[in-house]
Amino acid sequence: MTESHDADVAIIGYGPTGVIAALTLARYGVSAIALERDADIYPRARAVTVNDWTMRIFQDLGIDERIDKRIDPQRALRWVTYDGTEIMRVEHPPSTLGRKPRFYNIYQPTMEAELRAAAQEQGDRIAVRYGS
Ligand SMILES: Cc1cc2nc3c(=O)[nH]c(=O)nc-3n(C[C@H](O)[C@H](O)[C@H](O)COP(=O)(O)OP(=O)(O)OC[C@H]3O[C@@H](n4cnc5c(N)ncnc54)[C@H](O)[C@@H]3O)c2cc1C
Repeated sequence: MTESHDADVAIIGYGPTGVIAALTLARYGVSAIALERDADIYPRARAVTVNDWTMRIFQDLGIDERIDKRIDPQRALRWVTYDGTEIMRVEHPPSTLGRKPRFYNIYQPTMEAELRAAAQEQGDRIAVRYGS
């Protein structure tokens, strides 16, 4: 079947990179259509940590506060035995980007859902075709 679309940019793949590309283009008034072969978000964890750089990108797009509600601050890495004894702890150094903390725990499908929701709110600037 042939379909016609009118957009400035075509994005192939609507994972986190595709969504951020669409949001960035929308911010500068550039319309995009994203073609995503899967019907839904990949349902497994994959990424479990993002850092302050990622949050600065979200901040630049004006979506950091809503993402903040879907992720958890990561204060340190701890190795704990089954009986609860801590055998090692690595504290993270402070962020050099003015954000606190430096790392965040995420569940990638939840974070992606929030990114897609933010993109959907852009209206006509971002069109998505799932299953394409
Ligand atoms: C086990 C594991 C652990 C990880 N841990 C971390 C971590 O802790 N921190 C971190 O930052 N990152 C981590 N990552 C990496 C992170 O998951 C990826 O970097 C991130 O998902 C990449 O996003 P993306 O949008 O580039 O690609 P993807 O998430 O792979 O999205 C690409 C999208 O493009 C679609 N697509 C592909 N080809 C086509 C096509 N021809 N036509 C249409 N659609 C297409 C796919 O269906 C998919 O939805 C981890 C990855 C794995 C596997």
